Amino acid sequence: LFAGEATFMKGAVAIDGLPPIETVEIAFAGRSNVGKSSLVNALTGRKTLAKVSNTPGRTQELNFFRIGTRLTMVDMPGYGFAEAPEAKVRAWTRLVLDYLRGRTNLGRVYVLIDSRHGVKNTDTPVLDLLDKTAVSYQVVLTKWDQVKKGDRETRLDEVRAALARRPAAYPEIIVTSSKEGEGLADLKAAIVRLIAE
Ligand code: GDP
Repeated sequence: LFAGEATFMKGAVAIDGLPPIETVEIAFAGRSNVGKSSLVNALTGRKTLAKVSNTPGRTQELNFFRIGTRLTMVDMPGYGFAEAPEAKVRAWTRLVLDYLRGRTNLGRVYVLIDSRHGVKNTDTPVLDLLDKTAVSYQVVLTKWDQVKKGDRETRLDEVRAALARRPAAYPEIIVTSSKEGEGLADLKAAIVRLIAE
């Protein structure tokens, strides 16, 4: 699945700009700086596919990448800037809600959470939207290399507890480090299983 070439298809700022439906789609969501670009790049083996460190204030887009012939990956706009203007939050919500509601080929959303911080209040709006639209999602912890070995089980328990009452959350959490490569095979395997369903 991942052996095929990865290419950028297009960026969409509104729902009428989405590319046609051709494959199963998976989307990646997460707070700004969570490590989303690094993870997408590590998964596809392309160093510059998704731009690392998107600058705050940039136009919020859904970015579509075709992986081989059977998979499309969508990089969702980051969220959770501390002092985001209300208009920006509204635009983000409109775009994401329209996409989640209308995209019939969307297989799963991977919600990236920084291992060092766990699930925060800034993650609540996206988790609420996913639960509300009943789009299946799975949490992927990023930067796992930054959590001390002795703290790992506690961190996982905290994240599990934060998701326990969320109806659309997939119970299994995937831990990853784009830096050290940990968990990338697990995430790829989960995506392969999803495509095969
Ligand atoms: P994005 O804003 O979510 O796309 O995040 P980026 O991919 O730009 O990463 C934000 C920062 O976190 C950068 O400084 C990355 O080098 C760093 N980062 C990303 N992934 C990892 C990781 O697995 N481990 C560590 N230690 N740092 C990471």
